[in-house]
Amino acid sequence: MKRVLITGAAGFLGSHLCDRFIKEGFYVIAMDNLVTGDLRNIEHLRSNTNFEFIHHDISKHIVIDGELNYILNFASPASPIDYLKIPIQTLKVGSLGTHNCLGLARAKGARILVASTSEVYGDPLVHPQNEEYWGHVNPVGYRGCYDEAKRFQEAITMAYHRHHGVETRIVRIFNTYGPRMRLNDGRVLPAFIGQALRGEDLTVFGDGSQTRSFCYVDDLVEGIYRLLMSDYAMPVNVGNPAEITIGEFAEEIIKLTGTTQKVVYKPLPQDDPKQRQPDITLAKEVLGWGPKVSREEGLKITYDYFKNLPEERLYEETHHREFK
Ligand code: UDP
Repeated sequence: MKRVLITGAAGFLGSHLCDRFIKEGFYVIAMDNLVTGDLRNIEHLRSNTNFEFIHHDISKHIVIDGELNYILNFASPASPIDYLKIPIQTLKVGSLGTHNCLGLARAKGARILVASTSEVYGDPLVHPQNEEYWGHVNPVGYRGCYDEAKRFQEAITMAYHRHHGVETRIVRIFNTYGPRMRLNDGRVLPAFIGQALRGEDLTVFGDGSQTRSFCYVDDLVEGIYRLLMSDYAMPVNVGNPAEITIGEFAEEIIKLTGTTQKVVYKPLPQDDPKQRQPDITLAKEVLGWGPKVSREEGLKITYDYFKNLPEERLYEETHHREFK
């Protein structure tokens, strides 16, 4: 039985990856420090004998007993609100945390896939973004703590690949949504759905003309699985190219939820990218991958999930436990 370590396993993407690897017949070691992750996302797996959970901060040395075949490094705050609250931890997990994962991969002879992001392209001057583009990132802006940590992560991953011969994979993840996002993580989709469910107005930042392209989580997980199993070591974009303005997106959520609330406009956060759309030509070529779930379908599943959460979860505050 192949053994996989998934870091950030109690988070949105990490928990879906746990499900997928359990389904594929792996022994899954799930690791999380629970600063932004939530054990409720993996509760259903905890009685499974092929699953174990380790409460650990990967910014500190990682110890795993026994053999390890694969590592998926998904530990990091990933929403602007989260990483602005804990910028130092965000920088540490992307840099020191990735370094520890790479060291572990080297020691165990494991293949490692790291979760990078469309944020490495910053506020892009090339549209749509392909993997050749080097990006337009402000290192000293508010997003710098996340963007630069992820750029460092890519650099150190390539260094381990070239210098130590570690088998590495880099996925550049574009905006992804689905069940288990945190309602209060500040991301646009849970923000809008949470507001609709609580009977609040929907907050559009700026004039709503900025664009994003939203990928349903199952499509993303399929792309990641294929990349891990491929022999391609350079970064690959995985996302859904269906692009929409945030203003139009708010209208779609109003229609989906049937809310009678309206849209209100708030100031645009600093360095908020004006447009974002993945060029997925490479993923198609190398992985034979493309998204299958339409936004209409994916949003319906996601809304049903949020609608059925216990009432009190709608009102949970964002709070972060300090690193011990
Ligand atoms: N946004 C918004 N209202 C909100 C939250 C976000 O208009 O309540 C906008 C945000 O300014 C950005 C887009 O939605 O332009 C996507 O934001 P998100 O935080 O989900 O992810 P990003 O792609 O910016 O990392």
